[in-house]
Amino acid sequence: MTIVQELKKPNINKKPDFTTGSILNNCFKFNCIKCESELELNLENQIKNLWLGKTENINVEEEIEAKTFYRIGQFRKATDGGLAVFDKIKCEKCKAEYVTYCGVNEFSNSAYNVIVQGIALIEE
Ligand SMILES: [Zn+2]
Repeated sequence: MTIVQELKKPNINKKPDFTTGSILNNCFKFNCIKCESELELNLENQIKNLWLGKTENINVEEEIEAKTFYRIGQFRKATDGGLAVFDKIKCEKCKAEYVTYCGVNEFSNSAYNVIVQGIALIEE
């Protein structure tokens, strides 16, 4: 896996894209840079995978490469102070693939914030 282009870069000052209990915005939408199709990152799914640090869409090797790229250390501390969770999204139309990096923060018991820190176009 090679990171070809960053669509969204990590930043310490980002506000949460999703908070537990919100009805709206449980998906982060962005456009495929190759074909303009609308793609969705399910933010509740990042919370579900908080302890694993990755969803089932991304394999262990790809996760390691993403961690290296985003400089996530062994304690998985995200740019925003939460824990890093990685996912992968495929554009069904043009088959472009993206790796995503979110910071998930449990700010009180069972209540979470999700911040989308990174989205990057990848190639095998
Ligand atoms: Zn596409």
